[in-house]
Amino acid sequence: MDNLKIQENLPIANLTTMRLGGNVRYVVTVNSSMEIPQVLEFARQRNLPYWVMGSGANTIGRDGGFHGVIILNQIKGIYIGSTSKLTPLRDLDEGFSRYLPDEIIIQAMAGEIWDDVVELACNLGYSGIEAMSKIPSTVGAAPVQNIGAYGQDMAAVIQQVEALDTKTGQFVKLKKDEMKLGYRHTRFNHGQDKDRFIITSVTMKLRQGQIEPPFYNSLQRYIDEHQETDFSPKNIRRMVSTIRAEKLPDPARIASSGSFFTNVYLNKAEADIAESKGTPLWRNADGGGKINAGWLIEQCGFKGQLLHGFRVSEKAALVLINESARNYTDLAKARAEIVDAVEQRFGYRIEQEPVEIGDEA
Ligand SMILES: Cc1cc2nc3c(=O)[nH]c(=O)nc-3n(C[C@H](O)[C@H](O)[C@H](O)COP(=O)(O)OP(=O)(O)OC[C@H]3O[C@@H](n4cnc5c(N)ncnc54)[C@H](O)[C@@H]3O)c2cc1C
Repeated sequence: MDNLKIQENLPIANLTTMRLGGNVRYVVTVNSSMEIPQVLEFARQRNLPYWVMGSGANTIGRDGGFHGVIILNQIKGIYIGSTSKLTPLRDLDEGFSRYLPDEIIIQAMAGEIWDDVVELACNLGYSGIEAMSKIPSTVGAAPVQNIGAYGQDMAAVIQQVEALDTKTGQFVKLKKDEMKLGYRHTRFNHGQDKDRFIITSVTMKLRQGQIEPPFYNSLQRYIDEHQETDFSPKNIRRMVSTIRAEKLPDPARIASSGSFFTNVYLNKAEADIAESKGTPLWRNADGGGKINAGWLIEQCGFKGQLLHGFRVSEKAALVLINESARNYTDLAKARAEIVDAVEQRFGYRIEQEPVEIGDEA
């Protein structure tokens, strides 16, 4: 255990993009999968709970801090191949990019930065994740809530994860159909297996080519306005990055967790009622529908408002920006005002997307 990098009494605020939360007792950085069992043993010996942290872009710290061990995932490595035989990215020779196969397998270790993997795939001309450019995430966290944006999600490309099963202490491989991937809802973050698996690598299959119209609303709008005709992964990445930079806060400069609420999903009967009341919604193939929670918040008059130190973003009402909040209690107050107002006006109880760590003060 001497090899582990252990820090003590760090503010959770420093590890998360919303920048809230009291101190965590221990933060242990892991650089290889094999160190994870050692950290679990470290926690067990001290009778402390543990928590896996990537880049903290979907995690909010509470004021009382976390009397436990944060496992900070920094496991690096990217492997590429056309079959199950994968080569480390750093060992690929130039010949590889001259004879690119139609399909490619990318395996990235959990501590890699998600957007670095997207950039790599786009530069090689592979489609499948280009619309998910610039999502702040580690690779390991990407399947946890099945990240998605502008019409693409992990579920469409993921093949397998490697993980430590904390129930059995064994390293396992889980195939896509074992992950129960839905909208922000998976086996990793819901149900009896929530937090059971510590993901160490993610394997995806991508294809040469490009996405075809019709595109996701805001992307289509941008394409129309700028008369774009090149839908190659590299160009879609450029467009999505531009749209995101205009609309979403940059976590390096502005404290937020991105979308703070999840959209509302309705079955067919509910969608019919919502539509008859004039609520804008997107229909699924099965007749069910999705209502943008940002629209509901905007209709309640919150867009651009400052609530207990949190700005409801002027550009995307789904985003709460921590401008001057003193603590988690401020967040709880702002959240309650928004949730209650939406419920009173529309009858939907909108739910928070980010997870929370630690105790209330
Ligand atoms: C500005 C902004 C924009 C965003 N835009 C989008 C978007 O477009 N689409 C979208 O889907 N999300 C978006 N998000 C949310 C966020 O980017 C994703 O949820 C992302 O996957 C979080 O990654 P992370 O490494 O920061 O995870 P963390 O916040 O560190 O962790 C999130 C959860 O995953 C668990 N976890 C982390 N790593 C592992 C692992 N290796 N094994 C098992 N569990 C693990 C944690 O315990 C926690 O429960 C946005 C966030 C911000 C701040």
